[in-house]
Amino acid sequence: MTYDTGNIFAKILRGELPCNKVYEDDCALAFHDIRPQAPVHVLVIPKGAYVSYDDFAANAPDAEILDFTRAVARLTRELGVDLDSGHGYRAITNAGEHGVQEVPHFHLHILGGRNIGRMIDPA
Ligand code: AMP
Repeated sequence: MTYDTGNIFAKILRGELPCNKVYEDDCALAFHDIRPQAPVHVLVIPKGAYVSYDDFAANAPDAEILDFTRAVARLTRELGVDLDSGHGYRAITNAGEHGVQEVPHFHLHILGGRNIGRMIDPA
């Protein structure tokens, strides 16, 4: 799947749209979801142009995958949802049609601040 440079998160990365930023480093940016579904609902995205987790996992250089993963750990600690100082979280990524992905730039949802409940709606 070709990366669409006009997607919302690409515009946020280019500074063309605002975001409520909570974390940034060389490889990743994290910001509050505009329609939060939990007390903590943060999206973390790589700065590289990847359509989905599937694209990222298959095609990103090893160093980018490592840096992104470590950025997630730093973020969860800053948010206080990590397992050393907090009560945990759910990390979700939606990919493609069956994953019901809206924005075609890979993003990880970090959901916490309460018990998140069942993993998926069984319906
Ligand atoms: P999905 O692609 O289905 O994993 O979800 C995309 C997520 O992006 C949704 O939870 C939206 O609420 C969120 N979202 C869409 N536009 C923005 C924005 N401008 N700033 C922050 N979050 C956004």
